[in-house]
Amino acid sequence: MGGRGAVKATVYSGINNIYRVHPAEGTRECRELECRIKGKILKEAENSYNPLAPGDIVECEPLDSRRGMIIRRYERRSRFARWNRKRAAWQTMAANLDILTAVISAAEPPFRPRFVDRVLIAAAQGGVPGAVLINKIDLGIDPWVRERLDAWRVMGIDVHQCSAARGTGLDELAAAWKGRTAALFGPSGVGKSTLINRLISGLELATGTLSRKYDRGRHVTNFARLIDAPWGGRIVDTPGVREMAVSGIAPDELAEWFTDFDSAVSRCAFRPCTHRSEPGCAVRLAVDEGRIHSDRYENYLRIREELEDGARR
Ligand code: GDP
Ligand code: ZN
Repeated sequence: MGGRGAVKATVYSGINNIYRVHPAEGTRECRELECRIKGKILKEAENSYNPLAPGDIVECEPLDSRRGMIIRRYERRSRFARWNRKRAAWQTMAANLDILTAVISAAEPPFRPRFVDRVLIAAAQGGVPGAVLINKIDLGIDPWVRERLDAWRVMGIDVHQCSAARGTGLDELAAAWKGRTAALFGPSGVGKSTLINRLISGLELATGTLSRKYDRGRHVTNFARLIDAPWGGRIVDTPGVREMAVSGIAPDELAEWFTDFDSAVSRCAFRPCTHRSEPGCAVRLAVDEGRIHSDRYENYLRIREELEDGARR
């Protein structure tokens, strides 16, 4: 064919180096193209094992009405990447996001605030505002969970309380995500698929136990993908994960990523300070006085240890 000229397009998903892209000026004949990457330009991207992710804006040469070649990627305004320990590389989960929402459950599986803290750090590293969505509030919210949610609110982070099963809090989500691209990221079983199904009719993502999901085959969500939402925004659905590593931060800089530590850090007499055992450390004082949530502080210590271990290796 040829001669059609390059078009600007958005990456919706990518599996085995085949990307589904939607041209910015999609027509009835050309709503979606299946593309490969042309040449090596993109593959030499930064220390990342996937050159493209959902949300990326690319330039694409159509081959025919269904297929094309991606010839370049436009600069990202933000990205959410996850450090893959095994491969020692960054995996870009989604690009050009307006919001990264950490999804967890109030119970079943248990509330995991420390996972969320890690996601919020990754969001900040990629230049994406972080948010928190706690699902399954129909199962009740323990007082200590409420306290932990408040600690994020004090940091200026939006905290959404929902029950996907009952439809609670979903209108607020649609309002918050209007005109935006919001990625949802969380452990398996927290109800992310149920939530997306309630928000966007006609998708029918498989829900339930993991084994059931894999049995069903067709709807398995092993790969992140972009979904157009009826409120005039987009969602990035990401695969459920078990853990979240923090990387790319020097141990002595970690406290800077805990913005609720800021005022204590600035009053700390030690430079640098591990905020671990230095006598008279202002961060430890703030924890003792309840100005910093003790579980946030414990998580800081844990992540710091991991970063120190990584630096020694
Ligand atoms: P995902 O792995 O995060 O996509 O989770 P699923 O959407 O597959 O949901 C996991 C299980 O939690 C399913 O059995 C759902 O029916 C259940 N679930 C989802 N949302 C809620 C909720 O708001 N409340 C309760 N009680 N259960 C829920
Ligand atoms: Zn200190």
